[in-house]
Amino acid sequence: MPPEAGTGFRRQTVGPRPVHGQPHAPLPNLGPMKAFADPAQSLHSPGFFLMRGRVHQNFEVPARAEALAQGLTRLGIASTTPAPAPRAALERVHSTEYLDFLRDAPAEWAALPEPGPEIVANIHPSPEMLAQGAKPPAGLVGRAGWFTADTACPIGPHTWQAAIGAAGCALAAAAEAASGRTAYALCRPPGHHAYAARAGGHCYLNNAAIAAQALRDAGAARVAVLDIDSHHGNGTQGIFWERGDVLTVSVHGDPNRYYPWYVGHTEERGAGEGQGCNLNLPMPPGTGDADWLAAIETGLAAIRQFGAEALVVSLGFDASEHEPLGLLRVTEDGFARAGAVVGAAELPAAIIQEGGYNVQLIGTLLERFLGAWAG
Ligand SMILES: [Zn+2]
Repeated sequence: MPPEAGTGFRRQTVGPRPVHGQPHAPLPNLGPMKAFADPAQSLHSPGFFLMRGRVHQNFEVPARAEALAQGLTRLGIASTTPAPAPRAALERVHSTEYLDFLRDAPAEWAALPEPGPEIVANIHPSPEMLAQGAKPPAGLVGRAGWFTADTACPIGPHTWQAAIGAAGCALAAAAEAASGRTAYALCRPPGHHAYAARAGGHCYLNNAAIAAQALRDAGAARVAVLDIDSHHGNGTQGIFWERGDVLTVSVHGDPNRYYPWYVGHTEERGAGEGQGCNLNLPMPPGTGDADWLAAIETGLAAIRQFGAEALVVSLGFDASEHEPLGLLRVTEDGFARAGAVVGAAELPAAIIQEGGYNVQLIGTLLERFLGAWAG
């Protein structure tokens, strides 16, 4: 449950500003945008990926992080490595049982007869089973299906280490935002498809949700998540579904034609205290810069109306026209304009890396997005 709204949250502008009554005093120098990355992410190298009945090499590869790091270098931003996320911060968003599963299952899997190199489930509880009292079993094959949504989140021996490293980067960026600044977290694996107790779609720990919760815990009364990955941020929506203190906005490809297939529709607005605090803006196949940017503007207007004191950006690059698994047609300039538009909201922000699988391009797209934000 969220704590009471704190009173200590400080809102600051991102750039220098005059000091009242001291027109000639030195201006505060908040410095360039900080960035956080963890080399442990490279240990997570999933292999399995099932697409239209064929097994392919997984797209969520360590080379993605290398490409993004090169984009940061070209911007003159040096990243630092924070501590892995502490268990307490993870438990603010994820269930204890799920965290234990992610941490411990690989060793248990390796002791099974003839195990594959990664945990991939071959059964999931159906809605009928769940309606009739289904519960997680003792056997690992059954628990793998319980705690995963699909086959696109293989769990290897180093997935946990990489995931808590990524979540640590998200927490470090959130700490910057809590101090009134904006920072970028090079999170890999990504997070926005992970629910409180379920992995899915390359995601294990929901880095954006962990960052948003950390901002709430730092005293921000209202936090918004703006998700511009081309896939619906279903895990983030699920985590905050009944929360009135976190607005979740997602701009994504129409789920009738695209992962995660079942949710991401406009009529999903939240429930209970969260009624009205979820906004989905699905885009038809082939959507280009103009309509995509207009949807982002719509999302930002909702964020302003909500009165958010801090922003979490789920930044994916798979809306690119050159995305191998793409549905949308956003150009390099489109991502630069998105960076300028979101940055102009002048909210302290934790920018969290999500998807984007064109390794040749994503470093440039990050450079364009953050460069336009800062400049
Ligand atoms: Zn995506």
